[in-house]
Amino acid sequence: MNHQTLANSITLTGIGIHSGENITMTCHPSTEGIISITNIKEKTPPLILSLSNLAQTHNRATKFQNETATITTTEHFLSACAAFGITSLTIEINGNELPILDGSSKDFCMAFDKAKIQPINSKPLLPIIITEPITIWKDTACIIATPAKSSIFSYYLSYNHPVIQSQSETIELTPSNYINHIAPARTYGFEKEVEHLIKQGLAKGGSLENALVIGEKSYINTPRFKNECAKHKLLDLIGDCWILNKPIIGHIIGIKSGHQLNHSFTKLLAKKYL
Ligand SMILES: [Zn+2]
Repeated sequence: MNHQTLANSITLTGIGIHSGENITMTCHPSTEGIISITNIKEKTPPLILSLSNLAQTHNRATKFQNETATITTTEHFLSACAAFGITSLTIEINGNELPILDGSSKDFCMAFDKAKIQPINSKPLLPIIITEPITIWKDTACIIATPAKSSIFSYYLSYNHPVIQSQSETIELTPSNYINHIAPARTYGFEKEVEHLIKQGLAKGGSLENALVIGEKSYINTPRFKNECAKHKLLDLIGDCWILNKPIIGHIIGIKSGHQLNHSFTKLLAKKYL
């Protein structure tokens, strides 16, 4: 196993969900074995997307920061990187958040697929191998990791809500499984919650174009899968585990977990295995 980068540069453009601003990001191949982002508008030094730069988190996004720079809404991009095994990129961006695109990681995957993946022969990469069961929990959420022969992710959610109810999803993490079953799953929100966010001036770029919205009795827009919500939470979990910039050989099971618990889990993995 080696570090991997893109064979060609890619550019993606779209709205930032928090700022509502138009964002352009360009990912260039690199051989450093890290994913770093430079805000070319503010001319700040590169910010490495690593555990040591992970910001104090709330449940809405995965944010990185150092003394001079901040970058948020990275989780869907990192999830697509995990699917393709991309560990090395130099990114230029003109804002402090990644574009939300359609609320999924589909466009990142399509761009990666088109640009092709390039192994970095001079940079070997050791995966994390789960050797014994570990569990982390908070309130009613929990993440379990158990030994397995490959990289397997599962997610279970359950809401006391007639539309979403209980959903689950499991995949073996390969590029094709991810592209077909996970990448198109969009972020979701409840209609009432969305109205509240807009009133607070948050989610300025949020719309029916980039989220699955759940009403009292039905979905407001059409779901792409019956269990799109569970698939999206699985997408987030995969992205949050990629903060370690290494594949994980094991079965990771998320139960009602969000970014906060996902991050505690990645910290636990780092403490145990790195
Ligand atoms: Zn998400």
